[in-house]
Amino acid sequence: ATPTALMVGTGRGAQLGILIKGPQVLESTRRIDTIVLDKTGTVTTGKMGLALAAPAAGGDRLELLRLAGAVEAASEHPIAQAIATGAVQETGEDLPDVADFANIEGLGVQGVVEGHAIIVGRPRLLSEWAITLPEYLERAMTDAERESRTAVAVAWDGEARGVLVVSDTTKPTSATAIRQFRDLGLRPILLTGDNATAAATVAAQVGISADDVIAEVMPADKADTVRRLQSEGQKVAMVGDGVNDAAALAQADLGLAMGTGTDVAIEASDLTLVRGDLRVAADAIRLARRTLSTIK
Ligand code: ADP
Ligand code: MG
Repeated sequence: ATPTALMVGTGRGAQLGILIKGPQVLESTRRIDTIVLDKTGTVTTGKMGLALAAPAAGGDRLELLRLAGAVEAASEHPIAQAIATGAVQETGEDLPDVADFANIEGLGVQGVVEGHAIIVGRPRLLSEWAITLPEYLERAMTDAERESRTAVAVAWDGEARGVLVVSDTTKPTSATAIRQFRDLGLRPILLTGDNATAAATVAAQVGISADDVIAEVMPADKADTVRRLQSEGQKVAMVGDGVNDAAALAQADLGLAMGTGTDVAIEASDLTLVRGDLRVAADAIRLARRTLSTIK
């Protein structure tokens, strides 16, 4: 491989909106045959909006939004931002302060607001505190998930208090990008911490087969999933945007970060897609293959 040819590839990459960590990165793309895609913020815009706030029987909707919103205001997660913004808009007030805030990666958040110990997140997080979700709230969550929305549960002082639903949309470029991956001979896989129903709906929208959806994966297990695919002999590219994707991006044979994502993801990656357009990942792989064939 001549260094000059590799540098030309790197320069062309910058024009396309790809930042390449070093010329050696082009080499690792050569044998990629599998492309693992994070869902939220990668295949979808990650710009979520509050779609529904359903309090538990006898509860107050604005109180649910105010208290859950106060905790979420301390988190940078797209779900959190949608809930905090929606809460401010709907209550028309500033949110109260939160104390003892904690982010439980891949599960939700907790904190103390006006003396109440509040949890917002997956039902699994509630069950860790021995809080059960009444059946009608569970049904509200499933109904939302069937429409590929993300539903989270809210509890405080040991009791389920309601369900909040946020909706995200797939990027208009995702379906095209996935078709291009297939044309390049790559197998696209959707990998997400979100629930299986929402994941399956998004996969269907963008043309990923139902067999290639891996949902409800904890952040630490995303890297294990990549490792398992590698141990099956696949050369794996991973595309992600979040803190929760960093380990998987580092583990992959080729890590691609969305330039619109977090710094942690960008640092863990070999390539950055500056505008967050998934089609550019296909451009990058095509470019690398062409650059390498020029060299050979
Ligand atoms: P993804 O893999 O799609 O980027 P994450 O691993 O970040 O998703 O989150 C997985 C799930 O954990 C979310 O779908 C949500 O149910 C829950 N969750 C994570 N962070 C929060 C939060 N700040 N508030 C509420 N729920 C959360
Ligand atoms: Mg993400």
